[in-house]
Amino acid sequence: MRRRAEILRSDSPAEYCASAESGRQPNRSDDGAFPPYTFAVRNRFMERAIQLSVDNVVQGRGGPFGAVIVRAHEIIAEGANSVTMRNDPTAHAEVTAIREACSKLGTFELRGCELYSSCEPCPMCLGAIYWAHLDRVYFAGNALDASQAGFSDAFIYREISRPPSARSIPMVQMMHSEALEAFRVWEKQPNKITY
Ligand SMILES: [Zn+2]
Repeated sequence: MRRRAEILRSDSPAEYCASAESGRQPNRSDDGAFPPYTFAVRNRFMERAIQLSVDNVVQGRGGPFGAVIVRAHEIIAEGANSVTMRNDPTAHAEVTAIREACSKLGTFELRGCELYSSCEPCPMCLGAIYWAHLDRVYFAGNALDASQAGFSDAFIYREISRPPSARSIPMVQMMHSEALEAFRVWEKQPNKITY
């Protein structure tokens, strides 16, 4: 059975102080399925993601978002928001990092990898995270922080829950039976690569 990706908020300074005093490691995996990253190591990964988000704004490259992907204790890919620089509305930090990681590893799946994002993923990036089968996600800022900075994605979550015909961008189904031909060909295709 496939593991569902876990979305975890990065530990707050208050949690860090409490855990430092008690010797407890926040967010430590109990099942042993995840790499035994220490709290300090995870902090270093998140610090890099946050640094990318700040540098991105200072350098005028895009929105205040950064992300890194980690495998086997190493950052294998980095991403920062470049929507305005690339004229690409999909160029969010997480998607950019996922693309780079998959390209470097020569794969379309990122099992065994973790993503550290400076902010809670939007619905598009959340979808990409699930399609990529990442093991776990840490984020620092949350959706409310992003909303207060002018990056609200709550309306997209609301749109997802609505039927297509009731969404603010009209979605109209057409040529249903004709479209099924692609699925029939797919089912018969002997050399297909499933994902
Ligand atoms: Zn996003």
